[in-house]
Amino acid sequence: MEFRARFAPSPTGQVHIGNIRTAIFNWLCCRHAGGTFLLRIEDTDLERSTKQAIDTLLECMQWLGLDYDEEPMYQTKQCAKHLAAAETIRTQGNAYKADPAVEASPLYFRIPVDCDDFPFVRTVGNAEVTLAAEQHFLVNRAGLTFFTLSAKGKPVETQACLAGFKDLKVYDADGNILFALNAETLPGILDGSATFECDNAAKITYTKREVFYHDMVKGDLSKPLDSMRDFIIIRSDGSPVFHLANVWDDIDQRVTHIVRGDDHVENTYRHLFLFHLLGYPVPVYAHLPMIVNKQGKPYSKRDGDAFVGDFRDKGILPEALFNYLTLIGWAPGDDREKMSKAELVEAFQIERAQHSPAQFDQAKLANMNGLYIAEMPDERFIELAWDFAQRMDWFSKAEKVKFDDVAKLMKSRTKVFTDLAAWGYFFNNELEYDAKGVRKFMGTTEQRDGLNKLAEGLESGTFNTPEDVENFIRATEQACGMGEFQLNQPLRVAATGTTVGAGMYETVLILGTAETAKRIRTALEKNPLA
Ligand code: GLU
Repeated sequence: MEFRARFAPSPTGQVHIGNIRTAIFNWLCCRHAGGTFLLRIEDTDLERSTKQAIDTLLECMQWLGLDYDEEPMYQTKQCAKHLAAAETIRTQGNAYKADPAVEASPLYFRIPVDCDDFPFVRTVGNAEVTLAAEQHFLVNRAGLTFFTLSAKGKPVETQACLAGFKDLKVYDADGNILFALNAETLPGILDGSATFECDNAAKITYTKREVFYHDMVKGDLSKPLDSMRDFIIIRSDGSPVFHLANVWDDIDQRVTHIVRGDDHVENTYRHLFLFHLLGYPVPVYAHLPMIVNKQGKPYSKRDGDAFVGDFRDKGILPEALFNYLTLIGWAPGDDREKMSKAELVEAFQIERAQHSPAQFDQAKLANMNGLYIAEMPDERFIELAWDFAQRMDWFSKAEKVKFDDVAKLMKSRTKVFTDLAAWGYFFNNELEYDAKGVRKFMGTTEQRDGLNKLAEGLESGTFNTPEDVENFIRATEQACGMGEFQLNQPLRVAATGTTVGAGMYETVLILGTAETAKRIRTALEKNPLA
């Protein structure tokens, strides 16, 4: 069977990671199956779906390498077809105007009462419901309205479609039948000419049915028909509603597989009817669980970066974001995490998607990005880092040759490009000192004497390799009667202002030995012993 799946976003200006993960999963399914990946822009919310919002979406997709196979479909251009589909449904007798007397009245889709032979409807048994006493009971074209009692004894209103109550019988408290939905009463109810209402209904009985389907991710799902309601397909202003537009466009794009967020599961129970009545096979569904925060709540901007653009701005690589997002709610079944696109395409099976919500972890994404940086050629890293560095406050002081050396040295310590903020000490001669570091590593006369000796030696000696620097530091420690490595941290604090950084011997060579000596003297001067 041909495999055709689509990404059908509603552009809003920012692309949430949850949405783009849906796009990625669809893309992977299609590429894995050798199928067709389609894009449909559900741009019917004219206020939010601006040209800019659509451009942002397309840019995000391009940045992540989510290429699609046919011309994108724009939902707004499909309006005439949606109206024609509504007309088909109406002609079948499966739609009604909320108020037939009013021309501009919304058009409702009626879930057909006669649906026993639909492949996704089944009978589950007989139901009996006790009603709250002396409450209004109504059966009309739009369905049933009745009241039951809550656990606390309060009347609770239920409104539901007629289809949920096959063979409905309504009884009074003495067991007399007040009304029955049957071949005699049904036509009048359906065409709106008849209504049944009363205040003394005590009980109803009916045949219970449910809508069911198999979801590739969530397994077997079902929903009782008596919990569903007829729904609007054309608004009073004549515009098609999401359900109709979405289903018709899936038909029009000949979609065979629908992979989307599980916030659409409830819609699917309705969409099954529309596909069936419009005469098309129901596609295969796969609903992906939400991306959540550490508390298990839907992941939002409040939890940190949530939009693709945020990650791009922070210097996350598209291949790392792509890889990381595939692992939110999916795993290859072995212990691989870092996987190239080709490996992902090869391994991707939607059935392996996780059923429960998947947690988004910024730190894991940063680690993944670090792995991609580590494996990239130095030249590429330098190029990307130079681009990113333009926004750093130290950039104006960075000469390219020195920058390249710094980048090579710092590459293995870089997880995300915002880490470049910590490279400032290479280029700023005015340092800010870490107060704790100063106390700990420049706080004794022994340390300060050692630093003075280092400054003297660095000024007068010749150092060509990191080993030369290292040997000199070791010799100075010995000469001062200090233990091995006792001068490394004092030197780091004095020369960089911080207690953490890349290899100290390499750092000294990049700074230059004369500059390092100067920095040591300045540090001693600016941070006198208390
Ligand atoms: N425009 C809908 C959304 O973004 C698409 C739903 C679907 O994939 O069918 O939620």
